[in-house]
Amino acid sequence: MIFHILTLFPEIFEGYKSSSILGRALEQNQVELDLINIRDFARDRHRTCDDATYGGGPGMVLKPEPLAEALESVPGVKQKRGGRGGGIPVVYLTPSGKLWSQGLAQELAATPRVALICGRYEGIDQRIIDLFVTDEISVGDYILNGGEVAAMVVIDTVVRLLKGVITEGSLVEESFSQGLLEYPQYTRPAVFRGHRVPEILMSGHHAEIERWRREKSIEKTRRNRPDLQREQEP
Ligand code: SAM
Repeated sequence: MIFHILTLFPEIFEGYKSSSILGRALEQNQVELDLINIRDFARDRHRTCDDATYGGGPGMVLKPEPLAEALESVPGVKQKRGGRGGGIPVVYLTPSGKLWSQGLAQELAATPRVALICGRYEGIDQRIIDLFVTDEISVGDYILNGGEVAAMVVIDTVVRLLKGVITEGSLVEESFSQGLLEYPQYTRPAVFRGHRVPEILMSGHHAEIERWRREKSIEKTRRNRPDLQREQEP
């Protein structure tokens, strides 16, 4: 899968690219990160990418021309002509988008390539959204300084769902995969600072272990995310 990332700060992704699961997926060509510097598409002497907001108010807005040209440099990106446009998904990371979730990640993981727009300052000119963006996505109800960290959240979630990137069994029991949060996990030593691993996990009784894990999952979901349980109810 190819992620085309449009950003004013491509260097933010450098350390991330070599890390753990993503680093391995990149090495094995399961994933490609195509970093596109929006500033490379600015035409004036100062390579200006932002301007004051029409109507007044604090802060700057990303100008439409460099961003449109940066988008048009991505294979498969099409300007919309009514409806969704028929090209590859163009995602704008924004706090006013749809809340990112495991379900949306699964949908995105089914597409071979996607363009991710990282906003800065007060955001991007609305006409880019009207003309190119197919999906507006928020990673949470808070404001980040820029879309780069949000793009990493999206990439990280999607990459682990791609076939062959991580052991498939690990995905089945993860939080959200069955509408529940994951049960508690333990590793050696059996006793740590006086706290013992629950006996049941060392009993070797697989059916009992499964029952215990399910109970703990339900308890934890009820305590930390009662909204998830409500979604499960008919
Ligand atoms: N003025 C904007 C607003 O109130 O909605 C916030 C702009 S924010 C400082 C700059 C950029 O960070 C946004 O354009 C967006 O790309 C990114 N961003 C900030 N919070 C985000 C979130 N929760 N999810 C996704 N992207 C976010």
